[in-house]
Amino acid sequence: ASAIKAGQRVAEFDKVLQGRIARALDLERDLRRALEHEELELHYQPKFDATTRRLAGAEALLRWRHPREGLVSPQDFIPALEESGLIVPVGAWVMAQALRTALHWRRTYRPALRVAVNVSVRELRHKDFLEEAKRLLEPFAGNQPLDIEVTESVLMEDITRSISTLEGLRTLGCRIEIDDFGTGYSSLNYLVRLPIDAIKIDRSFVSALTQGPQAAAISGAIIELAHALGMRVTGEGVETEEQVRMLQLLRCDTLQGFLLGRPMDAEAFASQVLSGFATSSAND
Ligand code: C2E
Ligand code: MG
Ligand code: MG
Ligand code: MG
Repeated sequence: ASAIKAGQRVAEFDKVLQGRIARALDLERDLRRALEHEELELHYQPKFDATTRRLAGAEALLRWRHPREGLVSPQDFIPALEESGLIVPVGAWVMAQALRTALHWRRTYRPALRVAVNVSVRELRHKDFLEEAKRLLEPFAGNQPLDIEVTESVLMEDITRSISTLEGLRTLGCRIEIDDFGTGYSSLNYLVRLPIDAIKIDRSFVSALTQGPQAAAISGAIIELAHALGMRVTGEGVETEEQVRMLQLLRCDTLQGFLLGRPMDAEAFASQVLSGFATSSAND
């Protein structure tokens, strides 16, 4: 009897698994279609200088305008992009699109505007990644075409290869920023071996900042050490004025978060952040 039960359980497990695989394939098929039918778009979140609160740059964030589901957040589909390998063509699209927008905004509004893109593990590790980045960015290498945000845990796995990829990106005029700093296992001491220009302190640290002296001490130490190593520091996920004050006190260089500006589509970014900037002090 128990053998029958076990058999049933296996059959049920099979069904669950098949369901999961079918859904994964659905998602993959949908994503292929999304790429072909131009359902992907980039939104932009501003970054501000911590002391002057002037615009310091923008981060491109991927969105999927799904025909049925509406606007889908990257957390819901980036894992599928990575598993299917679709992250490579999508990443290339992100870079090309962000570059096009950056060049347009520089021509129209701010000649030295910085725009950053996020690059995932699979992408950075892909054998064609640097080649593709070169093809896109080399013509603009003298003008610091794009900045690159990459999550720390990724880089440590194969550090020699990471160093050469990041060096290659730097040669193309990209500034390298370590995203979500503090959430991985690496220390700044280890990061020193990588060609890094800036770190972004993860939102979890920023939200802990005002909850006690210990969290503030940790962030303060990270910022101080980063500065000693010649890196700049961005605080991400800033949601309150109190966090702004703390980060200013701790000498953080750049701030980003819903309090100061949410991610918005390119048109909104141009009209709300860029065009108003030169003539008003709305950000002060
Ligand atoms: P990230 O690069 O760390 O980006 C910050 C995320 O936090 C964004 O979520 C942003 O909307 C959100 N955020 C910003 N300020 C605040 C705040 O004050 N409070 C809160 N609660 N959230 C805030 P989003 O756009 O959903 O992106 C999630 C992650 O997806 C990104 O984290 C990044 O790792 C990844 N991602 C986004 N676009 C791309 C892309 O084009 N390529 C790759 N490979 N990854 C991307
Ligand atoms: Mg980022
Ligand atoms: Mg981040
Ligand atoms: Mg984060």
